This record gives sequence, structure tokens and C-alpha cells, in this order.
Amino acid sequence: MMIRAFGAAALDLVYPKGLYCICCGKITDDSRTYRLCGECMDSMKWIGGRICERCGRPLADINPYDQCFICRQHKHHFDSGYTCTAYSRCERAVIFSLKYDGNADIADTIGEIMYDRMTVEFSPDELYGKYNMVLPVPIHRHKLSLRGFNQAGLIADSFASRSGIKADPYILRRERETRMMRSLSPQERRENIRGAFSIRERRRTDVSGKSILIIDDIYTTGSTIDEIAQVLKAAGAERVDFLTFAAGSDMLKS
Ligand SMILES: [Zn+2]
Ligand SMILES: [Zn+2]
Repeated sequence: MMIRAFGAAALDLVYPKGLYCICCGKITDDSRTYRLCGECMDSMKWIGGRICERCGRPLADINPYDQCFICRQHKHHFDSGYTCTAYSRCERAVIFSLKYDGNADIADTIGEIMYDRMTVEFSPDELYGKYNMVLPVPIHRHKLSLRGFNQAGLIADSFASRSGIKADPYILRRERETRMMRSLSPQERRENIRGAFSIRERRRTDVSGKSILIIDDIYTTGSTIDEIAQVLKAAGAERVDFLTFAAGSDMLKS
């Protein structure tokens, strides 16, 4: 731990931060797309091929339907979802570096990746006209003070600066901290997150009749996005879509 920190600090003196691959941390050059070395660029599971028509995650090869397992089992509150990659080794490394190693600058690159993903679906003008606002998934203030930043907020800022759609981190509020979701079943996740978000009272009218894009780093079962979409729709939001950097794989009934 000490040695690693020392090594990184020493390298910072010689090489500016932009020259590290955001996935493996190896020194690369700044001409690299998305600040990924060639190897990591190839290892990233970029979205392509069949995706779920509802949540946008890649469909398992043996799934013959147009929707993933979870979307067929559970009625969502959000309208449509978009994601850039399938959550795997490289995606995990990028997100961990951002969230837990404090490399906040990675959020800017993720925002760039997300913007490029949306321009596959829409022209820049269509995208700008499609949404009134971009809302990052909020984290609880205790977590915010520990981490120093909300990664979804930084990613939303980056996406907003590229798309021209205004990001607003002050509409949604995280009411309480929730248990780590990683080991929970879809049902447990929904129960764990219930009531975790609210809209700030004097901002309720700002979402009424609006088309909203929620931004987060990972999409798994959709319980977080659903909970937020439900709150926004109860306040009159017209449309609630989401965009994430990575999505978990299609679960299949055994
Ligand atoms: Zn790399
Ligand atoms: Zn789905």
C-alpha cells in the first residue's frame, strides 16, 4: 500500500495525470481514445449487437426475447435505458479507480464515452431536444463527505458540457444511506432502496412535464433508477430515461 502510493506520487512528478490508462494505470500517450491503452480499449466490452429494448443491457446469446430477464420479470418505472459497456473486468477497474482511488478526473472521460454512446442513437440536435435536464443519482451526504465527490455528479457535468443539456444536482436528494447492493437479490434491492430518494420540496415544479435523463455509473437490476423514476413521475415528469457507463449482464433463469 505504502509502496504503491509512493510510486504513484513519484510518477506524478514526471508524467501528467492524463498519460495513464484509466483502466490498467500503465503509462500511455495522450493521443489515446478515452485515455485507454490499446490493450484495455480492446478488453472493454463495448455495447454492440443485441440489447434489451427496455433497459439497453446486452442480451445473453441464448435469450431469444427482445427484453432481458429482469425487464420481462419486473415492470419498470423508467421509460428507456442506455449503456456504453457490459460490466466486466476493465469496466470495474475504471469505476473503482474513479470511486475508491479518488481519480475524479476519470469522470470527464466517462462523460465523453456516454455522450458518444448517445450520438450513436441520436444526432446532437435530436439529443439536445430530447431532454430538458440531466440528473445525477445522488449519494448520501455522509458518503459525499467521505469520498469528497459524487461520481455520478461529475459524470453528469461532463455529459452536460458536451450535450448542452443542463445538469442539475440539486433536484434529487438521497434521504438515507442504503446497504451495499452487491450481494442482494433483485427483490432485496428494491426493498433496500425504497424511499431512499426524494425531490427537494421547492424544486418539484421544475420536473413537472419534463423529459429527464438520469445518469449513474452502473446499472444492475434497475432498482435505483426505478425508485428515482417513480419519485420523478409522481411529481409529474413526462419521461424518465437513464444513461449509465456499464450494465450488468442478462440474468438467465436456470
Ligand atoms: Zn490499459
Ligand atoms: Zn432489460
